[in-house]
Amino acid sequence: MSRETDPVRGLALRLMEDLGRDLLGEPLQARGWSFGYDRARRRLGACHPASRRITLSAARADELAEAEVEDTIRHEIAHAIDWERRGTTNHDATWKAVARACGASPSRTFKGDLAHADATYEGTCPSCGITVGFYRQPVRAHRCRACHRAGQPAFLRVTHSRSGRVIWPGGEEAGGFAGWAGFEASCPGCGKTVRKARHPRRPQACGACCERHAAGRYDERFRLVFRRPS
Ligand SMILES: [Zn+2]
Ligand SMILES: [Zn+2]
Ligand SMILES: [Zn+2]
Repeated sequence: MSRETDPVRGLALRLMEDLGRDLLGEPLQARGWSFGYDRARRRLGACHPASRRITLSAARADELAEAEVEDTIRHEIAHAIDWERRGTTNHDATWKAVARACGASPSRTFKGDLAHADATYEGTCPSCGITVGFYRQPVRAHRCRACHRAGQPAFLRVTHSRSGRVIWPGGEEAGGFAGWAGFEASCPGCGKTVRKARHPRRPQACGACCERHAAGRYDERFRLVFRRPS
């Protein structure tokens, strides 16, 4: 739905612009924040600092009164502004002052609306918007299972919380790894890239090539030389 046909999205985007301008000197959008829906059932809103996203439960935004939806949007915007100011957010006194300035009721806090605020990396499904927190940089691409099963683009877009740096672009394809963790090697036979979180202790060779050309036995020709990603 476009901004014109979806009044809730329209309201969220306008508040992100106005409150951002008032409290940060520029719209939240100018700092990379976006708005979307998620599939949550229990909570209405969520703020995802790592992916700079504010989301509302699609199901619950439909059911609830307008005033409650608006209060939730203001609540999540207060988290976003709080995060932009100090690089963290929770429901403490500092946040409450921002919430008041945003016109959100500061006494109301929502369970689970900051599910991955402390995660170093966050992944977002390109189709359903579900988010996953990572505490270690994922050296392999991750997929949203439900969307993969449904035949939708399912590779998570993964970003580093502090810098906003994209680790995995995600979408229909995983896209190239743009992180700095782990080790990678490419097979001298087939050219496939293999990535590991830790440097393997023993020599390793490409499984597919050994299977095809060496009856499944270790073959020096397909040895993988692991290096830090460039
Ligand atoms: Zn909250
Ligand atoms: Zn999904
Ligand atoms: Zn190979």
